[in-house]
Amino acid sequence: MNSVPPKINASGSRLPGFILAGTLAGIAVLVFFFNPATHKIYPACQFHQLTGLNCPGCGMTRAAYALLHGEFLTALQDNALFVFSMVTLALRGSWFGWNKLCGRVNGGFFPAKFLWLLLVVALVFTVLRNLPDFALLSP
Ligand SMILES: [Zn+2]
Repeated sequence: MNSVPPKINASGSRLPGFILAGTLAGIAVLVFFFNPATHKIYPACQFHQLTGLNCPGCGMTRAAYALLHGEFLTALQDNALFVFSMVTLALRGSWFGWNKLCGRVNGGFFPAKFLWLLLVVALVFTVLRNLPDFALLSP
């Protein structure tokens, strides 16, 4: 009676990935069909309403709408940080998926040091887009 219980591998679950992908696809469909410039169904930015300043996310929904309709320059004008983040996310996701398909070991999707870099870039972007000399970064 020396039986070994089966190992349970919870890390191999794909459910969180499917939930995330489904949620993002649903948001993309919503934004695609309802222009944020003409439909008032999206929540307003509380930071902008309170301070009058642009947060790093201001213009993000309009940028997403423009990207989904192939208007790259309009998206850049609405929120350049969002556009560069989407490009970076797509590149990283492609690299991550390719490594997974090839059976190579992937680290975390975003290493912690990358998140710190993203935070610093978002802070600098926020400061710059609220300065008069960098008005082109404002939505
Ligand atoms: Zn905002």
